[in-house]
Amino acid sequence: MNTRQLGWRRVGMGLALAIGAGARPVQAQAPDTTALIVRAATVIDGTGAVRSNMDVVVRGGRIAELRPARGRADIDLGDRVLAPGLIDTHVHLGWYITERRRLRQRGDGDDVQTAALNAAGNAQRMLQAGFTTVQSVGGMEDKAVRDAINLGVLAGPRVLTSLGSLNENTGSPDSIRAAVRRFKTNGADVIKIFASKSIRDGGVQSMTQEQLDAACGESKAQGLRSIVHAHAASAAKAAVRAGCTQVDHGVLVDDEALQMMAKAGTYFEPQCELVSRNYLDHKEWFRGIGNYNDEGFAATERSLALREALVKRYLAVRGLKVVFGTDAVAGAHGENGSDLTCRVKKNGESAVDIITSATSLSAESMGLGKELGRIAVGYQADLVAFDGDPRTDPMAFQRVGFVMRGGQVHRAPPSFAGPRRRYP
Ligand SMILES: [Zn+2]
Repeated sequence: MNTRQLGWRRVGMGLALAIGAGARPVQAQAPDTTALIVRAATVIDGTGAVRSNMDVVVRGGRIAELRPARGRADIDLGDRVLAPGLIDTHVHLGWYITERRRLRQRGDGDDVQTAALNAAGNAQRMLQAGFTTVQSVGGMEDKAVRDAINLGVLAGPRVLTSLGSLNENTGSPDSIRAAVRRFKTNGADVIKIFASKSIRDGGVQSMTQEQLDAACGESKAQGLRSIVHAHAASAAKAAVRAGCTQVDHGVLVDDEALQMMAKAGTYFEPQCELVSRNYLDHKEWFRGIGNYNDEGFAATERSLALREALVKRYLAVRGLKVVFGTDAVAGAHGENGSDLTCRVKKNGESAVDIITSATSLSAESMGLGKELGRIAVGYQADLVAFDGDPRTDPMAFQRVGFVMRGGQVHRAPPSFAGPRRRYP
């Protein structure tokens, strides 16, 4: 991963403020070295540490200092709880619900401009919800949005994208290797691989060991990470054996598969409930498309219980690296934080541990553990503050009152009177 792909090349100077989704990002004329002091009563740093009454000094888009509160603050967040910007390692940026209240499908009448604007809207919704970095295991439509955000044209989270995916039909090991290289040439940040069917189709293993070896082996050779959709235990095990970076979903994995992931250091990304709930609560958006039918919805309903039963087992596995991912599809963008709440309420995990999972650990899983996911000196100034304390009120994960990305303020409490300058 180089910095160019992540858009850390500075295209403007100083701070920008864009309040509210869809607001124009307005760029400041302040010099790059201007310090901005962000004060909060509680700071959860992304590695499990909690500190009281701290100032985060931001300079040049990075955290320059973390110190006990003193003197003047530019942004006083009061009682709010400050954490590193949140990371969702599994979204689908380009999925949306059309004007006809249906999942967008190729050939349904929407043109590419409409599709791109919807993807941009999805990106802005997630940023406003506190997600400053998202990994989209999506399609080519992600590219324009990622690049516009990197250029500063569009307000949004950092986007890493696979630009497409591989599956059993990609073909022989040689064709799979060639496909990985094509994705790399096209500018993919990561490779997405479907090693099992969807849960609506039973989740059975769909790619052979040989195919997975080729997919993840070539990804590694090209310096790319590999993320594997796998429900069946056999598919997850094959992914671990193939040296893949991350296993997603795992609704049907057994204890042996979990142990194998822990031992190999394979990241595991189970979802809590947003993705299933979104399908079940809005069947009319999806019904009749592919396997979105009564049978498929019934399987999704059953998967909720399976996901719940899995939690105790994976939380008991020592050393298993559980990252945060929602699989946010059409209709779910901006609701990502509800799966943080779900992890407290349903899984019984502590809010501090969940923040670690959704910040420093998720950053590490993307190879960005030294840049993102911590409130620490030298890290990117990606910050989020909750209106309330998620340690006592898990719903606070869904009340985000402040968002900073790379030193730029995208959401701020009304008391903030920071620079509002014109876009260059
Ligand atoms: Zn997905």
